[in-house]
Amino acid sequence: MALLVQKFGGTSVGTVERIEAVGDKIKGFRDKGDDIVVVVSAMSGETNRLIGLANDITDEPTPREMDVLVSTGEQVTIALLSMALNKRGCPARSYTGGQVRITTDDTHTKARILDIDEDKMRSDIEQGRVIVVAGFQGVDEKGNITTLGRGGSDTTAVALAAALKADECQIYTDVDGVYTTDPRVVESAQRLEQITFEEMIEMASLGSKVLQIRSVEFAGKYSVPLRVLSSFKEGPGTLISIDNEGGMEQPLVSGIAFNRDEAKLTLVGVPDIPGIASKILKPVSDQNIELDMIVQNVGVDNCTDFTFTVHRNDYKKALAILEQVCADLGAKQVVGDDTIAKVSIVGVGMRSHAGVATTMFDALSQEGINIQMISTSEIKISVVIDEKYMELAVRTLHTAFDLDKSE
Ligand code: ASP
Ligand code: MG
Repeated sequence: MALLVQKFGGTSVGTVERIEAVGDKIKGFRDKGDDIVVVVSAMSGETNRLIGLANDITDEPTPREMDVLVSTGEQVTIALLSMALNKRGCPARSYTGGQVRITTDDTHTKARILDIDEDKMRSDIEQGRVIVVAGFQGVDEKGNITTLGRGGSDTTAVALAAALKADECQIYTDVDGVYTTDPRVVESAQRLEQITFEEMIEMASLGSKVLQIRSVEFAGKYSVPLRVLSSFKEGPGTLISIDNEGGMEQPLVSGIAFNRDEAKLTLVGVPDIPGIASKILKPVSDQNIELDMIVQNVGVDNCTDFTFTVHRNDYKKALAILEQVCADLGAKQVVGDDTIAKVSIVGVGMRSHAGVATTMFDALSQEGINIQMISTSEIKISVVIDEKYMELAVRTLHTAFDLDKSE
């Protein structure tokens, strides 16, 4: 018997039939004696539909009214699911974010949770009720409805689990777990039994399709065990937790992440003097362009090359800024490339092992893949390569680090 917070995403509650199926599932847990707090998203497509309505009226809807509007999607699903549960003889009560008192700051459309009043939920639980809470929403201190940003129901679920000290926060979705890499790229990708919060955050480019990454950070901060599972098919899913408790030997690399969203810019022949990095990057960050990797070379003849990556959408803007910087600093030239991809190996196991980088670079070189940039953190090594070799690189590394499913 446990206290579980279970979150069902948009596809899981996408139709009345699916809502009834979720009702059956929850009833099954209740029959086993578990206490359940449910968090639901809006029916799939509903939030987008609502945003579309707003945009039919104005390009710049007031954020406050936007939140009043988009929060209605979840209000529909909490009521329908509670009806489905009550019909099954499983007493349930729906609550909006404001009603359970999820208090947030007043940053409409991307509010942060400040406090949750768990007393009300506890008393319902003690009376044997399932609590069905609207995800993605809260109220600010003045009582205005706020929302937590797209995909925010995951964060609601984690926050409730943290407040109630639940045994587990279970995220039911349309995939059956977190994989070693995207199975569409590597057929032999495997579902991970377990992964750490840190690894999951580093795997963001894969994981964000499964979970809102902010919710993983939140779960890590409050040590809420988080499990991703399928709504449609039975199975243990993937447990995201503090460390790998399996007792099995920790793999060196847990997964391979990749993304094609970046572009690279190099300022060639900049004077190698103090303050140069900030002179180059300040105009870029002043335009709110986020940087990912930054590499500066060893200076030769009092000159150096300076390379960084930005989101591909910001490429043209960053290029124009850098041309100006180049002229101002008397640098040689600007070189840019927006046909790159970043491929990363992620694993807490690499902390205590030497030679992981060598294995990675070796494997890539055997396929003739040129590495353009390298960056490392304690549990991740990323390389920038030509976009056209991305899938080959991911497959090669998946095999090199023994991640292929054995069959
Ligand atoms: N309904 C909201 C969205 O579509 C929140 C969520 O689904 O988590 O972003
Ligand atoms: Mg979602």
